[in-house]
Amino acid sequence: MKDFQFKKKFGQNFLKDETIPTKIISASKIPADTLVIEIGPGAAALTQKLAEVATQVVAYEIDSSLEETLYEKLHSYSNVSLIFDDFLKRDLNCDLEGYQYQHLYVVANLPYYITTPILMKLIDSHILVDKIVIMVQEEVGDRFCARPATRDYGSITVFLNYYFKIRKLFSVNRNCFIPRPNVDSVILSLERRESILPVKNFSLFSQIVRDSFQYKRKNIRNNLKKYDLIKIEEVLSKFSFSLTSRAEEFPVEVFVEISNILSE
Ligand code: SAM
Repeated sequence: MKDFQFKKKFGQNFLKDETIPTKIISASKIPADTLVIEIGPGAAALTQKLAEVATQVVAYEIDSSLEETLYEKLHSYSNVSLIFDDFLKRDLNCDLEGYQYQHLYVVANLPYYITTPILMKLIDSHILVDKIVIMVQEEVGDRFCARPATRDYGSITVFLNYYFKIRKLFSVNRNCFIPRPNVDSVILSLERRESILPVKNFSLFSQIVRDSFQYKRKNIRNNLKKYDLIKIEEVLSKFSFSLTSRAEEFPVEVFVEISNILSE
């Protein structure tokens, strides 16, 4: 690690406070027989601790200049596989083929510049993750956990809450990192819901959610004017909303029902 040049473009803020990885591991409650995916092991601050509790760790690191450090720190753990590549470009189903496990977790101090693309990739690749425990910047954490009718509630909140029960576990001060970022962070737990609301046409659901929030200040009549507003009004009135309501007021079920009625 000596003389390592931190790369801002890769979101490299490494944990220097050694108590934080331990706290993350204990809050993750990783059960026996679990494969853990880590995105961005960096200098292995978290990876070593993960290797001690997980059956298998598959870690993706984009920065090949960390190869030597990572092999050096992790060579005694036979249950760690390192993949030096861009996580966003990988075929996850292919990468996980050949591993036997009961549970699949993602535990990571994420590169913040791609927090949402990473989560969308995990969802889109249908790899059935049981739990995601991630460090994100505080304001992003607020957005993911936002309740309807609050300023932070948006399309990403709806998508994530559709699949996961999201909780804030604890905050991490900016002084715990090197280099020190300009923001504080938070550890979130996203636990896959046991039952998810049935959606008839998933791409329509995604589109409706995105369109509903397209212009945040506009009401739902304006944002969804290209769809059948009579049917939409029918759904809204069931939930005591109207076409003059705004998307930020609606819980996930409303978007599900709107997309389902429009796919009939
Ligand atoms: N886990 C380490 C820690 O907690 O100290 C490092 C976390 S640092 C915030 C994010 C890490 O993600 C960096 O090591 C960075 O090189 C890596 N990274 C950035 N973009 C990536 C990508 N697209 N795929 C895989 N790793 C990436």
